[in-house]
Amino acid sequence: MKISLAVLGMLVGISCAPRAHAQAAQPDGGGIRPGSLPAAWNTGGPKCMEMPEWQVHEYNPDLYILRQSGCTDYEKPFVFLLFGLDRALLLDTGSRRGNIAPQVQLTLHRWLLRNDRAGIPLVVVHTHSHSDHVAGDAELQALNDPSIPITYIAPTVEANQKFYGIAHWPEDPGAVDLGNRIIDVLAIPGHDAAGVALYDRQTAILFTGDSVYPGRLYIRDLAAFEKSNQRMLHFTEGKLVAHILGNHIEQTRTPYLDYPVGTMYQPNEHEWGLSRGVLFEIQAGLEAMHGKPQRIAYRDFSLWPAGPLVKETDESRAAFKHTQKQQLDHMWDQDQAQP
Ligand SMILES: [Zn+2]
Ligand SMILES: [Zn+2]
Repeated sequence: MKISLAVLGMLVGISCAPRAHAQAAQPDGGGIRPGSLPAAWNTGGPKCMEMPEWQVHEYNPDLYILRQSGCTDYEKPFVFLLFGLDRALLLDTGSRRGNIAPQVQLTLHRWLLRNDRAGIPLVVVHTHSHSDHVAGDAELQALNDPSIPITYIAPTVEANQKFYGIAHWPEDPGAVDLGNRIIDVLAIPGHDAAGVALYDRQTAILFTGDSVYPGRLYIRDLAAFEKSNQRMLHFTEGKLVAHILGNHIEQTRTPYLDYPVGTMYQPNEHEWGLSRGVLFEIQAGLEAMHGKPQRIAYRDFSLWPAGPLVKETDESRAAFKHTQKQQLDHMWDQDQAQP
């Protein structure tokens, strides 16, 4: 087959393009540190007596994902533990009744043993300030373990700005270096005023908190949320994005269908990791609202702005109570049949 010089030039040009539009030149792994996500999580049941309080998943030897059991809180938040050469970073501390400190301590000690180290400083930070992600703060601050000296960063704009060196909030990016591992930080207010997204250059994972995940994206400030989404799009332009990992899964495996608010046991959850393409989809949805809050369901998530059209109703409160009661009544002793 004959290829003209012009076409050849184009092909060479494309293959040498510096990761334009967040693509790699070859499908060779892109030079990022790989890891794996579980095919499915143990969300909470079907028998709560059998469920650990936290499921720990090793993405790779220096990144651990902890997920709170639905048996202790239906929110089932994710918590992240990243290791650099000089320090470890704990992103969020879970929800009520989590009892996270012993699990974090155990995971850290196992890492120290595996790496033949006596100790490592731990910095505790947050994706945002909501109670289902900061509930374990006090118990971690109280953890008195000489091999894990803790620095605590409060989930506020001021503390984030200072710690990550963000000159102008929310426009400027910041960063933290864990020791041969730089994490970029973007301010992403809109779901919560103190919200941040973290981009780990080593794994190319973008951690987005409650702003992007397969579920209901609750938007408190529509204008700020849109700017934050644009900020993430702009920042990731030309960068690889292995996964977008948020803090919850509320979507089912069935497109356009979520679990009712309050669901503890979710045996058919949507795949957790999302691609950068979702940011474009969110952007299009926000633009289509023209500043008027509107609930819109997509295949993998839904936009759920706060506002007169979408506020809590008696009906939604009743549905939550029904879901909770039905599951609480049965989760501890039911047989293998799904509820
Ligand atoms: Zn939140
Ligand atoms: Zn949350």
